[in-house]
Parts: sequence; structure tokens; C-alpha cells
Amino acid sequence: MIDKPIVVQVVLDKPLAQGFDYLWDAQKLGKLPEIGQLVDVPFGRSKAVGVVIKVSDHSEFDIEKLKTVNQIAPLPPLDSALLALMNFASQYYVHSLGETILPAIPQMWKKADEWEKIPRKLELAEKKKIKKEIAAEGLITEAQLNPNQKQALQDLLNNTGQSFRAILLQGQTGSGKTAVFLNWLASILKDEKAQVLLLVPEINLTPQLERRVRAYFPDKTMAVLHSGVSEKKRGIAWLEAMTGKAQIILGTRLAALTPMPNLRAIVVDEEHDPSYKQQEGTRYSARDLAIWRAHDRKIPILLSSATPSLETWMAAQAGRYEYIRLDQRARGASLPRVHLINTRDPQNQFSHGDVSAPKEKSLITKTLANAISKALEAKKQSLILINRRGYAPVLSCNACNWLSKCTQCSTYTVMHKAGALGRRAVLSCHHCGLVSPIPNHCPDCGNADLKTLGHGTQKLEDAIEKMWPQARVLRVDTDSSRKSKGAEALFQEIHEGNVDIVVGTQMIAKGHDYQNIGLVAVLDADSRLYSADFRAAERLFAQLVQVAGRAGRSGVDGEESGAIMIETQYPESPVFQYLLRHDVDGFLAFTANEREEAALPPYSYQALIHAEAKSLEKAIRFLNELKGRLKNRGMMTRELRVYDPVPKPVMRVAGSERAQLVIESANRKVLQETLEMIDQDLRQDSQGRISKTSRIRWLIERDPIAI
Ligand code: ADP
Ligand code: ZN
Ligand code: ZN
Repeated sequence: MIDKPIVVQVVLDKPLAQGFDYLWDAQKLGKLPEIGQLVDVPFGRSKAVGVVIKVSDHSEFDIEKLKTVNQIAPLPPLDSALLALMNFASQYYVHSLGETILPAIPQMWKKADEWEKIPRKLELAEKKKIKKEIAAEGLITEAQLNPNQKQALQDLLNNTGQSFRAILLQGQTGSGKTAVFLNWLASILKDEKAQVLLLVPEINLTPQLERRVRAYFPDKTMAVLHSGVSEKKRGIAWLEAMTGKAQIILGTRLAALTPMPNLRAIVVDEEHDPSYKQQEGTRYSARDLAIWRAHDRKIPILLSSATPSLETWMAAQAGRYEYIRLDQRARGASLPRVHLINTRDPQNQFSHGDVSAPKEKSLITKTLANAISKALEAKKQSLILINRRGYAPVLSCNACNWLSKCTQCSTYTVMHKAGALGRRAVLSCHHCGLVSPIPNHCPDCGNADLKTLGHGTQKLEDAIEKMWPQARVLRVDTDSSRKSKGAEALFQEIHEGNVDIVVGTQMIAKGHDYQNIGLVAVLDADSRLYSADFRAAERLFAQLVQVAGRAGRSGVDGEESGAIMIETQYPESPVFQYLLRHDVDGFLAFTANEREEAALPPYSYQALIHAEAKSLEKAIRFLNELKGRLKNRGMMTRELRVYDPVPKPVMRVAGSERAQLVIESANRKVLQETLEMIDQDLRQDSQGRISKTSRIRWLIERDPIAI
């Protein structure tokens, strides 16, 4: 009698809906297959690493023709809870299981040719592991917590037992949230086996938090996982998390997908931060997956922020999440004052006849220039925030404050240059796709001089260097600090006082304590406030509150701290008005109202269908055809809105042009079913995610955070 064959189904990192069947030669491989096992298999003329998701004794394909698994990774199989998470993510984000699991596995484990050497490597690494002394800092013990923090900790500890809890910990920057959740984790980690996951948005913030976590848990093993950690270190850290050897897993979004068999609690720090959203491949939200994971594992998850995302804030307000607030600053420093500089007020501008005015006078107000000079004289540092991202600009009228708004759906329409959407330049709405001609005159006041918002921000940086040649200017952005070490070094420069003016993107505003800041300036707030993206105001507000937190840190016990100056043409805008009062809840309530009226998220759910082609026209046609097919099949019901395709905000990317289509529904299930259908529809004519007939590359994105 012939033995029954062993057939395993393996998923690979390919945009293919199913896995592949392989034969398993137990004798050659030395063991029986297990679900979750990482294996090396033949694929086409080469080979690939994949994960076993099914074991059986038959195949839909001809058994004779199946290829055989080459080898098994020297690694325990991924546990069933992790596979459940991956399955959910794959379904929810409409990406294949393989594409979801494999990118979450560190490179070291995906190089099958080197698997043989891994056990030896691990041994060596273990031997070399001299306890590296990381300077611990910032231990605030339970006894040292202030009364507010004590209460918050008590609330966290009150509710124990094996059940899911989602908790929003809201409190202004510096109110001592970190000190609270680290003490909370300390009580959970009293159980020797327990593992906790601590997510941070940016790799630049990990060294600082790492030192702090060290101070609390000198005896625990911590695995640090982010893209700045070397391949080998990451591979080992991941293994330590998976085997339960590491109790604390600290990392950026990708760490949310780490196998952790004894996971007991999750903290998502700065939960509102957009970097939790993966922007490539399976475009998951690490925060949302962490919540799913906590729910699945019946454990608590704490979301911490000074400026919660509207989604989280509404859940807490409605009582769906527990709500814990910390409203006092831990060390009693006052919040800094916010000054709005109205750019339309002549008093703030250099006058025409002013011979002493700098050449760059059109780029910066006199009021701000004076403030920078004053900070320099006082030997205080200035932080100048600039957003370099290329947004398609909104059109505005300097005379009466008119802004180009969509007549159909109340979001702002943006300019597209001639040739992008037809022969002439046009305005288009990135939400509903409406295209309209550019008005010759302001529709409200007749002024013929309409300008795009935020023009000239690129030149600003240079202008600052020219205007204060004596100052030591440092530029900080993601390019100048690709590596965590690079960023650390830059921040060190600021701390040591080697710089007078720091010009940079929002990353300088995040999470760092600076001691000698005299001034924080925001120069291009308007272009971020009024933008095609309806979340722009929420982002800007969160960022400005963060910045305000930074500026205020130096002041101790009520001492006047650094000033914040924002140049704007629209000082009456609600974002600024709430900011002046440091009224986070007021702003969020206002925003919730706006979204409800426009039926935008969180009052509806969205997805984007992306298309990338050699020409924009082709991409748009592709999406229009898709829309036509949905219509023909009667999919466009009252529950589902499918808008018109529009060019992507940053259109040209390396020789290709992109367009997108917004799909919206108030019903999650309807949206899910539609997306699955679209996936099937597009796959019929595609190889992976490239259309065979039109060569267009397409992608489905669920819950986009930028449109
Ligand atoms: P948040 O996470 O809300 O920004 P942190 O926990 O980082 O706040 O606290 C801000 C600063 O105040 C840190 O430098 C921290 O060490 C310090 N701090 C926090 N709690 C206390 C406390 N109870 N007593 C003294 N200093 C504290
Ligand atoms: Zn006007
Ligand atoms: Zn519109």
C-alpha cells in the first residue's frame, strides 16, 4: 500500500489570491509539517520563502506534478493567534495573505540560503552579548506620581481580569502620560512570563523611550523593532519576541505584527499619528490592527495622546472606550501663548518704502522677522516649521478670503496644471472628482488677483539662511536623518545649543524635550489648513498642539515659556481659535460636527482604488471603466457612493502618473463586499496587480488617511 501523500499549502509574498500546493517529504525534511511553519519552496525557475497555512493529504492539482518543499526555517511555527491577525488583515485590507504575512517577517528569516548558518549566528550573538549599558533615565515611581497620575493609574489597575478593554489616555503634552502607562505596564510585567507591546510612531522617538523603559525595567529583556535597527538585530529581536524571551517589545508600526505568545497589554503612544498607517503593500493601520489584536486576545490596549484622532476621541466620548484624562502638566509648566500673525494686516508687513527691509520680505512678515532676531539676541533657539510635501494648492482671494470650495461636497478643490486634466488648468475636488474651470475673478468680490495658497514655501528655507547669515541654521527632515542615529545626532546638536535656528518638517516637533527654545514659528499653516484632504485641519491642529507642548517644556513652575507664532491669512479660522484656547475637545467636537454634516469619516467608511499608468488619461479611463462596470451590475445603491476619478495629489512619480477613485459607504459590510468584488473584477484581467490589457497597476486601499 502506498502511503498517503502530505500536501501543504504555502502562501508567498505575491499579489496572488491563493497559496500554492507542495508535497512534503517528511523523511527528507526530518519532521511533519505544521501550520505557521516558514519554508523554502521552488517557485517558477527559482525559489521563494513562504508560510504553510494548510496541511492535507490531497490537492486540487495533479499530485504527480506538485513540487516538493526544499527546507524548513530554523524557527518555531507562527502561532495561531498571529495567523488569525494576519488573516483578518488580509481580508480587511483586501490583500493576499502572503503579501500580508511575509513583509512582517524580518529579512534575516527570509534568506533560505543562510538558514543553515543561523543557529551558529545566534550562538555567537548570545556570547557577544555583553550587557550593553544603556543610560537609563526618567524613572518616576508609583510613589512619585502626582495626584492626577495616581488616579489615572488607579483607574487602569482597577479593572483587571482577562477581558478586552480599549482605553484612551488623553492629556496635554508633558502631563505625564508616559509615566502613567509605564507604571501600569510595571504591574502587568510582575508576571514573569507576560509580554507587552509598546508602539511608537517614529523611529526617532524610540531611543528616548528606550532609555526610559530601561529605567523602569532594568531586568527585563526588551526587543526593539523598527527599520533603523540592523537586519540581524531585528531578526534576533523578532525571534526573542516570538519565543517569549523578550517581555517588552518596543517598536514602530511593523512591530504591531510581531508574534508574541504571552501578550498581556498593548500601548499605542501618540495614537493619532499618521505614521501608524502603512503606505505600501498591505496598507494597514497598526493602531487599528493592535486594537483588533487586543480584542482577539482579550487584553487591554491603551491609546495615548494629547490630540487623539477623531475616531478614538469619539469612541471615548461615546463610552465605547474607557476614558482617562490627565489635564495638569506633570511639572506645572504653563502652556505657551500662541500668537497669530495676520498676514493681511499691513502692520505685520514690511512697508513698501522700507529701505532696511530684507530682499526676502515677501516671504516672511516683519513681525516674525523681528521675533526671530529677538530670540537670536536673547541666545534662545528658534524652531521654524515648514512642510515640504508637494500638495496640489487651493486657490484663494487675498482681498476677501474666498477659497475654492467644491460646490458638491464642501471639501476644497485644488489646482491642476494645464495638461493634467484636459488642455487647461482646472480645479478639481479630490473627494467627489468634480472638475471646474478656474475663475478669472474672485466669485465673491471680483478681485482678479487669485493666488494659490502656500506658494513660495520652498524658497522660505533659503530666505531664512540669507536673512540671518550670522545664525547657525540646522535643517532637519526625514532625508537628513534617515537613520535613527542620524536623527539622534541632529537632536543632540540642538540640545547642546550648537544651533540657533532649526528649520524643519514636523519631525522636529515630535516628542523631544528642548530646553532653550525661545520661539516656534509656523509659516505655511494656511496651505495645510485648506487642502484637498479633509483631514488636513485635524493634522495641522494636532501638530500645532504638539509644537506648543515642545515650546512650553522649558518653563518650570509657571515661568513664561517660549512663544509660538503662526503666520496666517485666516486668523479667524476655528482651528486657530481653538488652538489659542488650547481647547482640544472643542476642536474635536467642532470637527466631528463638520464631518457628520458632510457624511465624511468617521461617519462613513472610505476606500481608494489607485491606478498608476504611463499617462494620467489612461489611469483615469481605467478607473472610469471600473466605475461603469459597478454601475452596470447595479452596485451603486444608496448605500454606496462611487465618485469620479481624480489625479493623485503628488502626481508624477518616476515616469508614471497616478489617479484615484473614492468609494464611500456608511455601511462597513457593504464597503467590504464591494471591495472584494472589485478585487475579483480587476484580477480577471491582471497578472498580480497589473492589468494585462492596459498595463495599469492598480491597488485597493481601505481606510485611507489621505485623499
Ligand atoms: P507625556 O507622556 O504626557 O508627554 P511624560 O510622562 O513624558 O508626559 O512627562 C513629562 C515630563 O515630566 C517628563 O520629563 C517626565 O519625566 C516628567 N514627569 C512625569 N511625571 C512626573 C512626576 N510625577 N513628577 C515629576 N516629573 C514628572
Ligand atoms: Zn475675493
Ligand atoms: Zn467635491
